[in-house]
Amino acid sequence: MSTMDKCSFCGRDKKDTNLLIAGLSGHICDRCIEQAHDIVQEELQKKGDFDVNQIELLKPIEIKNFLDQYVIGQEEAKKYLSVAVYNHYKRLLQTNKKEEEEIEIEKSNIVLVGETGTGKTLLARTIAKMLHVPFTIVDATVLTEAGYVGEDIESILTRLLQVADYNVEAAEKGIVFIDEIDKIARKGDNPSITRDVSGEGVQQGLLKLLEGSIINVPPQGGRKHPDQKMIPVNTKNILFICGGAFDGIERKIGQRLNTQVVGYSASREKDQIDRGNLLQYIAPQDLKSFGLIPEIIGRLPVLTYLNPLQREALRRILTEPKNAIIKQYEKLFNMDSVKLTFEKEVLDYIVDKAIEFKLGARGLRSICEAIMMDVMFDIPSSEEKEVNITIEYAKEKMDKVNIQRLKAA
Ligand code: ADP
Repeated sequence: MSTMDKCSFCGRDKKDTNLLIAGLSGHICDRCIEQAHDIVQEELQKKGDFDVNQIELLKPIEIKNFLDQYVIGQEEAKKYLSVAVYNHYKRLLQTNKKEEEEIEIEKSNIVLVGETGTGKTLLARTIAKMLHVPFTIVDATVLTEAGYVGEDIESILTRLLQVADYNVEAAEKGIVFIDEIDKIARKGDNPSITRDVSGEGVQQGLLKLLEGSIINVPPQGGRKHPDQKMIPVNTKNILFICGGAFDGIERKIGQRLNTQVVGYSASREKDQIDRGNLLQYIAPQDLKSFGLIPEIIGRLPVLTYLNPLQREALRRILTEPKNAIIKQYEKLFNMDSVKLTFEKEVLDYIVDKAIEFKLGARGLRSICEAIMMDVMFDIPSSEEKEVNITIEYAKEKMDKVNIQRLKAA
C-alpha cells in the first residue's frame, strides 16, 4: 500500500478510517480532523476567556458605573477600587511596551475594611467579571507558614493557575482576593514574645507574593507530591485585593484620633469627628496597631472601607442590582412561564427580618429561600400561571422557620 492511502498525521491506513481527505501533499483522516478542531476550539476559547492583551481599559468613572450595577452604596470603596484598577492596568499596558520608561508605576494592591457581608467579595468579584482576567478567592485563615499544618502560601497561586487553565501568562495578570486578612494579624502589638505560627510567619510569606517575585507553584497544590514539577509564576502584575472585618479596629482609630488632636485646634477638630462611623477615618497606622506588619501594609497602598448596610441599602440590594435576588426568583418562575410578583410589604418584611436577626445582606437570600421554598416546590407541577406572594403568606412561612438554621446558612 502506498503512503498515498495513509493519514499523514496519525499514519492510519485508509481502510481504518471513515474518511480520508486528500490535500496537496498529504492526507488527513476524520479522527485527526476532529482532534484538530477540538484543539482549535480550545485555543480560541483560552484566548477569548483570558486574552490579557485584549483588556479594555475603562476609565475610573466607567469602572465605577459598572460596579454600580451590581453593588449598592459603598461609594468611597468603589471610587478607590476604580482608580486602583485603572492604574494597575495602565501599569500592565506600560510593561507590555518596552521598558524604556524611567518612572515605574508601583502596584496598587488594595485593602478593603468592613464588616462581613457588606460587599467586599462582591466588589472584587465584580471587578474581575468586568476585566475578564483570572480571579480567585482565598481565605487567609487556612494559610500557614511552610512546614505547618494548613495550606502553603503558594497554594494561592495554584488556584489562580487552575482558574486560568494553566495559562501562566493570564494568571500572571489575574486578581486574587484574600479574604479575612485580619485573621493573620499578630496577636498583640508586641512582636514575638511567643512564636506566632499563623500570624507573622504567614504575613512574611504573603509579603513575597505581594511585592512581586517569581514563585515556584505546585500545579496541583498541596505538599503530597514532592516530586511534582513546579511552575514559576511571576506575581509582579497580579493584583491583590485583601478584605477583612478587622473587628475592634474602630477602637484603635478612636484612640489615634484622640491622641492626634491635641494642640490649639483640638477642640474644633474633635467636634467634627463622626463617632458613629469611625471606619471612614481608617489609616495605615491603624492596621499596624491591629497587628499587620509594616512591610505588608507598605505593599497594600490603597486602603478603603465599606459602610455597614442600613435598612435602605438592604432594601435596594433585594431588587436593584443587575442580578438582584428578587430578579433571580422572577426569572426562575419565568422559565416555567409563571409570572411572579411580590407585595411591596413582603420586601420590607424581608429586610426587617434580616435586621432583626442581624443577618445582614447574606441573610436576605436565606430569608427569601425560606419564604419561597414551598411555592418553588409546588408551582412547576401546577397549572398556575401567576403567583403573587402576599405579606400573610410570607409571615406564615417565616413563622415556621428555624432561625438558627437561617443564621447558619
Ligand atoms: P463580605 O465579603 O464583605 O463579607 P460579600 O461581598 O460576600 O460580603 O456579601 C455577601 C452577599 O451579600 C453578596 O453576595 C451580595 O449578594 C450581598 N451584598 C453585600 N453587600 C452588598 C452591596 N453593597 N450591594 C449588593 N449586594 C450586596
